[in-house]
Amino acid sequence: MPTELRVLSVAAEAFPLIKTGGLADVVGALPGALAAEGVDMRTLLPGYPAVMSALQDAASVHSFASLHGAPARVLAGHAAGLKLFVLDAPHLYSRPGGPYGGPHGEWPDNGLRFAALAFAAAAIARGGVNAFVPDVVQAHDWHAGLVPAYLRYGGAANARSVFTIHNLAYQGQYPREMLETLGLPPESFTQDGVESYGAIGYLKAGIALADRVTTVSPSYAAEILTAEGSMGLGHVLHRRSGALTGILNGIDETLWNPATDEYLASRFTVADLDARAGNKTAIQQRFGLEANPTVMLIGIVSRLTWQKGMDLLLGALPVLLRGGAQLALLGSGDQELERGFAEAAHRYPGRVGAWIGYDEPLAHLVQGGADAILVPSRFEPCGLTQLAALRYGALPVVARVGGLGDSVVDASAVNLASGAATGVQFSPVTREQLESALERAHALWRDQLQWRRIQTRGMRTDVGWSESAKHYARLFRDVADAHSG
Ligand code: ADP
Repeated sequence: MPTELRVLSVAAEAFPLIKTGGLADVVGALPGALAAEGVDMRTLLPGYPAVMSALQDAASVHSFASLHGAPARVLAGHAAGLKLFVLDAPHLYSRPGGPYGGPHGEWPDNGLRFAALAFAAAAIARGGVNAFVPDVVQAHDWHAGLVPAYLRYGGAANARSVFTIHNLAYQGQYPREMLETLGLPPESFTQDGVESYGAIGYLKAGIALADRVTTVSPSYAAEILTAEGSMGLGHVLHRRSGALTGILNGIDETLWNPATDEYLASRFTVADLDARAGNKTAIQQRFGLEANPTVMLIGIVSRLTWQKGMDLLLGALPVLLRGGAQLALLGSGDQELERGFAEAAHRYPGRVGAWIGYDEPLAHLVQGGADAILVPSRFEPCGLTQLAALRYGALPVVARVGGLGDSVVDASAVNLASGAATGVQFSPVTREQLESALERAHALWRDQLQWRRIQTRGMRTDVGWSESAKHYARLFRDVADAHSG
């Protein structure tokens, strides 16, 4: 067994403490998966109320006389099975609402709130906490993008850095006038440093300055190097392409296990698929859909945004319904889309059900009872709902982009004949192609024997973390060795 490697993970969210999306799932699951690979991972989170109240055995291990306006300290402790460092800075994090904003929108000081998180991470990376001096710091998404910048410009550190892109679309841009406040030197404001389109780019800084860059699927790693996929960061991504790797996310197989899932009305296994029917009935009740075991029930669990292709789905609803299917949608996000789905539920009573909001138990029920899960994203770094769908026997019907393309095997004639098919893919991501994918799903549904074969194959697909954790562990060791060697 190689010696234990210490990795500090830095993020704005971690399931189950605080979550708005897949980032939290990954940050919450990786430490457990990496423990099996000899990696001791601790996670640094902002001290939001939800995190502070869950933290157990908290001890103050580092302090800052002043961090953007008031004193702050780092607490060590644990919560929900995670070994944590928490940045206790009430002036930045002690607020009601989500991690990024409250009832009136984004917090205006997000630039400072997440710079403080990165600053604290760099202090730990420099040995600020004796009991845990990391070999590597893994910084997730723009919120932690300044970690490599503070390591580069803030004096010598032993730790190497890995920056992980979960979504290139959120870049964290702040005015250049903040440079001094952030404690970054003028020489950091260059194309090879933190400068991005005349501003300070947190995500850009992470990409430019980390020792290695990862993203959450091999296909997304390739897509972000294309003109269309690079979201304005093609220049720096190309410069760093030699340091860029795509590692597919997994899902936590203990949290997502249909045999033990307490959120399901009826638990089931691949050997007892008839028991799924109880969940379908429960969804039809919860979403006000006609009680009917034989219609195809299509489920959605998603943020309602342009990225997720939800406007395309609204356009394709007539085709979905013409084929005889029902739709149960759980999601929240853009007001216009929320309104669109609420109206559709009104217009097609008993056939379209929309639950606008965020509801973890209901997400499990939808996965466990829908016949298919639709993910028509315009781009998708990895996507987790199609992985849960595979494990829960819901056929993923997905756009062939990013991690969706990497994790679903299309029911083409060849893949059906070989038995490899696990779902339906479509490309390009247009309403027409979505409609034809829905028509293909309808056709598959009409052959229940075939459907069962695809479903079974999907449930036997490995969607857990074990392979990807090995990949991350190898990468962390490589980057640490490259340094010490
Ligand atoms: P993203 O991070 O872009 O939102 P992912 O597919 O990577 O997309 O991750 C989404 C995660 O959030 C999944 O765990 C999914 O189950 C969950 N999720 C999304 N919307 C909801 C919702 N309205 N209620 C409950 N869980 C949701």
